[in-house]
Amino acid sequence: KAKESGKNRYILYDASMNKDFTERMVLEKHLHTAMDNNEFELFYQPQLDLGTNKVTGLEALLRWNNPELGYVSPVKFIKVAEDTHLIIQLGEWVLIQACDFLSHLHKQGMTHMTMSVNISPLQIFQADFNNKILKILEYFEIDPRALELEITETLLIESFDIVYEKLKQLREKGIGIALDDFGKGYSSLSYLKQLPITTLKIDKCFIDNVSIGMENKTITRHIIKMGRSMGMSVIAEGVEHTEQLEYLKKYECDKMQGYLFSRPLPKGEVEKLLSGLMTSGDK
Ligand code: C2E
Ligand code: MG
Ligand code: MG
Ligand code: MG
Repeated sequence: KAKESGKNRYILYDASMNKDFTERMVLEKHLHTAMDNNEFELFYQPQLDLGTNKVTGLEALLRWNNPELGYVSPVKFIKVAEDTHLIIQLGEWVLIQACDFLSHLHKQGMTHMTMSVNISPLQIFQADFNNKILKILEYFEIDPRALELEITETLLIESFDIVYEKLKQLREKGIGIALDDFGKGYSSLSYLKQLPITTLKIDKCFIDNVSIGMENKTITRHIIKMGRSMGMSVIAEGVEHTEQLEYLKKYECDKMQGYLFSRPLPKGEVEKLLSGLMTSGDK
């Protein structure tokens, strides 16, 4: 009997491996034509300043809707886009769309709005990455201080020196650098000290447990304290409950992003939300 279940397990494992492989192949096939078929769209999630209760910025989040596959999570397709290097072209498209929308918002009177864009390591490794960013900003007449690039730690482990030089240059122009998903991976505190990071994004996993876990609560509080003492702005991601919000306010977290205030929204909807807040005086 033991033998039998062992055999079954083996078959199951094998089948799921095949399934993963096939799924990847299908995603890859459709990804290649997705750009030309206009299947991508950017959603925007507001970032709220906890001191003033005002929306100070937006994070651009990519959405892919394929006629055959339906909606595919970025967690799945970004990985495939990276492996196939499609992310380079796609990432540039994201930057252009996000900056286009940001310049539109600035013209609507939301002059202090910032835009955060997720950047894949492969993009930064392109020789002309910095030039491209600066050209896009120039084209849309955007003050570099209104743009923030979100990077993750995996990027830094790969080739610190190249990344360091590039980020330093961009930072000197005024562009903000956010360290995304902080605390989730192989966090190294030495990166924090060496890199020109302006914003620390506390990973959702710590925020999730603020309402239940004592330990995570303490970690969150210390991340906030550390970030702030290093002169960074600290933002919590994935805030869903008022209890979490209260905790973050109590320990002087600068900003929050999460379903509690707003989900990521299509640009028409986010613009409506923002102009509503503007005309309502929002205190
Ligand atoms: P991320 O940059 O850490 O983005 C935060 C993710 O958390 C987003 O998922 C967002 O929709 C989700 N989120 C925000 N608030 C809440 C909340 O209160 N509760 C819950 N449960 N989730 C919340 P999304 O949009 O599925 O994106 C997943 C990841 O895909 C992003 O994580 C980012 O790493 C990547 N990604 C998305 N767009 C881009 C892009 O344009 N370029 C690159 N390179 N990566 C991207
Ligand atoms: Mg992000
Ligand atoms: Mg994140
Ligand atoms: Mg994430």
